[in-house]
Amino acid sequence: MRAALYTRISQDPEEQRRGVERQEKDGREYAERKGYEVVAEYSDNDRSGYKRKVKRPGFENLKTGIREGEIEVVLCQHQDRLARNATVFTDFMDLCRERDVRIEAWQGVTLDSNSATGRYQATMQAATDEHYSALISEKARSAHLELAKSGKPNGGGRGGRPFGYDRHRSIGEDGRAQSRLVVNADEADRVRHLFKLMLSGASVRSLTHELNDAGFTTTTGRPFTMRAVRDILRNPLYAGLRIHRGEIVGPGVWDSVVDEGDYQKVQSILANPDRRSWTGGARRYLLTSGIALCGRCGENMVARPQNHQRKYGCRPKQESGCGANRIQAEPVEELIATTVLDYLDSPKTRQALHDHHAEEDEVSAWWQEIAEANEALEQLSLDHYVEKRIPRNAYFKATRELERRIEIAKENINAAGTPDVLTDVPAGRDALRQWWDGAGLDLRMSLVAAVIERVVIHPPVQGHNFFNRSRLEVVWRV
Ligand SMILES: [Zn+2]
Repeated sequence: MRAALYTRISQDPEEQRRGVERQEKDGREYAERKGYEVVAEYSDNDRSGYKRKVKRPGFENLKTGIREGEIEVVLCQHQDRLARNATVFTDFMDLCRERDVRIEAWQGVTLDSNSATGRYQATMQAATDEHYSALISEKARSAHLELAKSGKPNGGGRGGRPFGYDRHRSIGEDGRAQSRLVVNADEADRVRHLFKLMLSGASVRSLTHELNDAGFTTTTGRPFTMRAVRDILRNPLYAGLRIHRGEIVGPGVWDSVVDEGDYQKVQSILANPDRRSWTGGARRYLLTSGIALCGRCGENMVARPQNHQRKYGCRPKQESGCGANRIQAEPVEELIATTVLDYLDSPKTRQALHDHHAEEDEVSAWWQEIAEANEALEQLSLDHYVEKRIPRNAYFKATRELERRIEIAKENINAAGTPDVLTDVPAGRDALRQWWDGAGLDLRMSLVAAVIERVVIHPPVQGHNFFNRSRLEVVWRV
């Protein structure tokens, strides 16, 4: 008889240990005893036989095999390997009956799908399995919900600790072990710093470098990855919010580290995939985000290192530049830094800048516009390519219009600068310098972009690329 072997392990640690290999070995031994020829093996790893929504490719392939008539008997450890859900199981049993396929389990109750009593017993067994799984799931869910509602962190007393908090363990009045989160001052300061930098337009990449450079590690002692940093920035725990099943269910009993408004703002920054191009990512040049312009041809100056020296240079002719203008980066950036700090040192300019600044609401409205346009673009391409509801011409016309709207929104955001950076910058010459020295390149870039519209770099007089103060011309925003 041609037999198919079906094995599955679920998330149950006990079953994990026994593993698929063990099930396979047992199944083959059973087949041998019965004189079956195993012609196919299907397996699902770490998938629940209880949840109906979970796709089990092995199980699906098994059904296909049955439909194609390759299989005469299905072997499994216990019928609950096939399904812990009564509906799924009876459907499967119907299919087997239709194709004259037997189901045999080598463990537990013998399953005889050919007799009415056998099918009844199997169905009852499936219902029992389903009930059992549902009970466990219900218990786990209500326990979690209870914890969530009481504002206690997940995982009772057993879990690790989130970065920024220590877990204090004690024995409660009811004699049970308890744990609560207590702010870890050092790490919490760092978390606040991360949120602040993020609001000022820094990239997750630069934040990650900074954390590692400062000697911080994750709570499991590992260096920070960008993902770990992003996880911190996304964790509502730091805003003192308790989350359950993706929804915020209320305030937590622990102290927050950042305020909820800042937390929400960071979420919208992270949610926006376009921010990478906006903040410029990791760069080594202060003025390459369209600030430095060639005084000879008007093109953007880009990073053009030469003889192992950092230099700004005009693009080559084939890239629409003049290619004939270069300047050492170091002295230019130092001069710009001094100029910007001098400029900011004056209360008058600070006030003028402040007044000039676009309202934050306005900026977020532009972000909103971009998000909506992107969504519409996605829907459009679905309608056109998948559903084929929109003809080609109309599709391209609508796409162009949306892309134009995105461009306009981006320009407006750029024109508004990065609002938060100015409110963060301290007043006073020395404090300003200190801030600048401590800031990463991303932060410095956002400050420069907030006050300077462009820096025109004029070509050298005698054809030498020497640095000379008079070659620079700063155009202020205000
Ligand atoms: Zn040029």
